[in-house]
Amino acid sequence: MQVKTSSIKLKVPDGSEAVLVKNLYLSCDPYMRGRMNRPISASYIGSFQPGSPISGYGVSKVLDSGHPNFKKGDLVWGLTGWEEYSLITATESLFKIHNTDVPLSYYTGILGMPGMTAYAGFYEICSPKKGEYVFVSAASGAVGQLVGQFAKLLGCYVVGSAGSKDKVDLLKNKFGFDEAFNYKEESDLDAALKRYFPEGIDIYFENVGGKMLDAVLLNLRVHGRIAVCGLISQYNLERPEGVHNLSALLLKQARMEGFLAPSFYHKYSNYLELVLPYIKEGKVTYVEDIAEGLESSPAALVGLFTGRNVGKQVVVVARE
Ligand code: NDP
Repeated sequence: MQVKTSSIKLKVPDGSEAVLVKNLYLSCDPYMRGRMNRPISASYIGSFQPGSPISGYGVSKVLDSGHPNFKKGDLVWGLTGWEEYSLITATESLFKIHNTDVPLSYYTGILGMPGMTAYAGFYEICSPKKGEYVFVSAASGAVGQLVGQFAKLLGCYVVGSAGSKDKVDLLKNKFGFDEAFNYKEESDLDAALKRYFPEGIDIYFENVGGKMLDAVLLNLRVHGRIAVCGLISQYNLERPEGVHNLSALLLKQARMEGFLAPSFYHKYSNYLELVLPYIKEGKVTYVEDIAEGLESSPAALVGLFTGRNVGKQVVVVARE
């Protein structure tokens, strides 16, 4: 993978509705792996083009704009390039940042795409109710840490899985999960889930897929719900693993539903109304893993697939 710095004129071409930005923070996200597949992957925003800077979510400052909705000095989040300056033509996926009394990097995470993922996946897909039993995998990550905290705020019993002792401590002691376990230390995931959910699981927020999904299926309660957010354990496999226990959906009259965060972006302002007070009142906390400099971005992205990141992986390109 190449990260290129383009040399571009710091002005939008005459007559163009594009927005010229200086990139400040870049977001490393697991879905980007799917965009490296050729031919064009099934990924929802298409493959990266060899020879061009890769694109992804980020926080940027507008330097010049041909678009009526954006002006010089605005701060925005949305799809940009992994480079110092970008000329953004796909302005429909650009959100203006109005609240700047929070860390700007939050717009790559809790106030950006991963936040919308947790919000849409938990509230819209899982239809959660107070007192339900909730399980979250990859629970210390950008999305998982939020799902767990939203579930606790609603009054659910919440267990998370993660890949190290430090992450398990974080889940229990910083994010307030009721229980957490290191899935790498469990030889029998079904037994582990039975230990933490003797009465079964109402809601599974699925971030990893594979063996974990199969084990959860064995532990679903009647009318259980699975929000299929991501399947990171499968992204680097030549052949994805099979799922063997789907009959549980039938027997438990349960529901499994996939979703993509951008389909819910029309609800972004509703999400901000919910989450900004949570942040300001300290009801929700957010852990970031900050890598310094554009040159650190390839390693930061690859680190998502070995669990090197602790919390939301951000790359700082510039601080305004
Ligand atoms: P994270 O910040 O959680 O980073 C990825 C984490 O996944 C790693 O830190 C690691 O944590 C875990 N992981 C890596 N490889 C494996 C593996 N083989 N088996 C189990 N766990 C693994 O990422 P996000 O919170 O941004 O994303 C979480 C999931 O949500 C991903 O599947 C992603 O694709 C999906 N997603 C879906 C969206 C949608 O619109 N549907 C939008 C955004 C994200 P650990 O150390 O705990 O193993």
